[in-house]
Amino acid sequence: MEKEQIRKLAAELNLSVPGNELCTNMDIKTEYVGTRMYNTPILGFGAAEDPLFEEYKKVGIIGPWHMSPKEWLPEAKTVISFFFPMSLEVRKSNRQEKKVASELWAYARIEGQAYISAYMKAVAEWFQERGFAACVPSSDSRWQSLTAGKGIEGYPEIREDSFGSRWSERHAAYVCGLGTFGLSKGLITEKGMAGRFGSVVVSVAFEPDPRAYSDVYDYCIRCGACVRRCPAHAIDPERGKNHMICGPYVMASRAVHEPRYGCGLCQTGVPCEAGIPALARVSG
Ligand code: SF4
Ligand code: SF4
Repeated sequence: MEKEQIRKLAAELNLSVPGNELCTNMDIKTEYVGTRMYNTPILGFGAAEDPLFEEYKKVGIIGPWHMSPKEWLPEAKTVISFFFPMSLEVRKSNRQEKKVASELWAYARIEGQAYISAYMKAVAEWFQERGFAACVPSSDSRWQSLTAGKGIEGYPEIREDSFGSRWSERHAAYVCGLGTFGLSKGLITEKGMAGRFGSVVVSVAFEPDPRAYSDVYDYCIRCGACVRRCPAHAIDPERGKNHMICGPYVMASRAVHEPRYGCGLCQTGVPCEAGIPALARVSG
């Protein structure tokens, strides 16, 4: 099986999986009907046995609760990471905001995530229909989020200020060559940071994509724009984002967007919104 086949599949699914376009049955304002939330995803391929997945289990990087590809799928050979860039309409709307996410951003965060989950399910089914094993960690029953104070099953020693989950999409994307981290802790890809990730672990062996970087922050120019954009003052110019400040602020936006929420101000109106700033490839 060739990687090109999977890239073509990715483009086809972007058009055929329902839910990427805002429609009337989503309980939305009529002015948004027909707005596309996500552009065609970009893909990266990583080896299931990449040593970084073991590194991620170290305390201080992620932690021992982070599951490796082979723990998700014993016959795993490859991790395929997908980055779904937010559409220009969604990004533009959020650029105007100074306190909370735009309505379109909140839709892309909630209805958009439902679309991405359906999309990743369709990718897994495509492999399974061809006789291969596939697992989408974020939809798997073993997936657990590590919310402050609750910890994760089997790891009672987790600190109260711990954040994360059993599978980090951004760290998987880093392994797969899709990009590096920024000060705001998002991942900067060739299509920028404003978007969402999905991934699938499969039993097919693909050649891993090369990583065009050597440091976890290679693509971040430390311009501080995200620091200035953050209404919660959650991003420190030296230490980066504090999840304990960001998380509650994002959830408090329900007061405006109920039943939705979101923020992403640090991902829009900044040089890394839609490209890699170090390469001066930011686009409108
Ligand atoms: S806005 Fe600037 S400092 Fe913040 S993540 Fe992007 S490139 Fe880095
Ligand atoms: S760090 Fe959190 S609160 Fe601050 S702009 Fe980014 S998403 Fe919003």
